[in-house]
Amino acid sequence: MLTKKDYEIYSKKAVEFLEKAHIAVTEKEKARIEVAEYDLGCIDKIGLELVVYVNTERCCAKELVLLPFQTCPEHRHPEVNGETGKEETFRCRYGTVYLYVEGENSGKPAAQIPAGMEGYFTCRKEIVLKPGEQYTIQPNTLHWFQAGKEGAVVSEFSTKSRDEYDIYTDPRIDPAGKRQV
Ligand code: ZN
Repeated sequence: MLTKKDYEIYSKKAVEFLEKAHIAVTEKEKARIEVAEYDLGCIDKIGLELVVYVNTERCCAKELVLLPFQTCPEHRHPEVNGETGKEETFRCRYGTVYLYVEGENSGKPAAQIPAGMEGYFTCRKEIVLKPGEQYTIQPNTLHWFQAGKEGAVVSEFSTKSRDEYDIYTDPRIDPAGKRQV
């Protein structure tokens, strides 16, 4: 569980990174930054911070902050009640993002997979995103991503976000427990 103190520390760091990326957010948005730590107890490795701008029946936009080497764990967005799963586009605004999707193995990943968790990071097709570069993830396809040493800020544009239906490769992660991406 995330403690109140940790929430304050990580949400404050997120604000600092949004400033580095020159992304303006209101005081109200700063006050409702979400910190996802996935209940794994290693937020510096598996976790992220986010601001949700909008999430309607048809579209969703968020800002994601990843601290240096922080990782969003592998997951996919399945079909829900006959509706196609979430499609999402990640656009890097600051830092470097190492994104991994299903497909041909790119070889040794540039990202640092946490020791002992290799089995939960099966996608090895690597896409490197620098500021101004983007990539679209198709529905129901596995993906995970990690920031480089400077951390990263990523804008996410997608169809409706239904976090509770997301499927994680690591069975310890409860999708209903956290805000996901
Ligand atoms: Zn996703």
